[in-house]
Amino acid sequence: MELDSLYQQVILDHYKNPAHKALIEPYTVQVHHVNPSCGDEITLNLLVKDGLVDAISWDGVGCSISQASTSIMTELVLGKDVKSAFKILDEFTELMQSKGQGKGDEEVLEDAIAFAGVSKFPARIKCALLGWMAFKDAASQSMVKLGEQ
Ligand code: ZN
Repeated sequence: MELDSLYQQVILDHYKNPAHKALIEPYTVQVHHVNPSCGDEITLNLLVKDGLVDAISWDGVGCSISQASTSIMTELVLGKDVKSAFKILDEFTELMQSKGQGKGDEEVLEDAIAFAGVSKFPARIKCALLGWMAFKDAASQSMVKLGEQ
């Protein structure tokens, strides 16, 4: 797999020094997502308060793409309202489904733009999306829970 070397460095940095990796409490929802085709696993704790991503933490094992992508995702969504976080998620999902054609909006995606090249490799797309899908699941569950209160 060949990715732009600058982007490779971003992914490697996050893999070596992941952000928000170590589960913390309290949380509204905890989810566990796996990507069996690669063996990646993510547990994600999410605390949504007043419509904002108040706290997010995770733990996991797997390839550098899955772990780095989760790290970058947590940095992007922390402190944002859930609606804005979902906009970033949509932009990232679209990029991953672009089969190498998408450039992505760097203003929205920031460091996550580093995964643009991954969309050329169908086997790795699930790795890049794992943490994001876990966040989508946890945030959706949080909103339902909060609605019930
Ligand atoms: Zn993987």
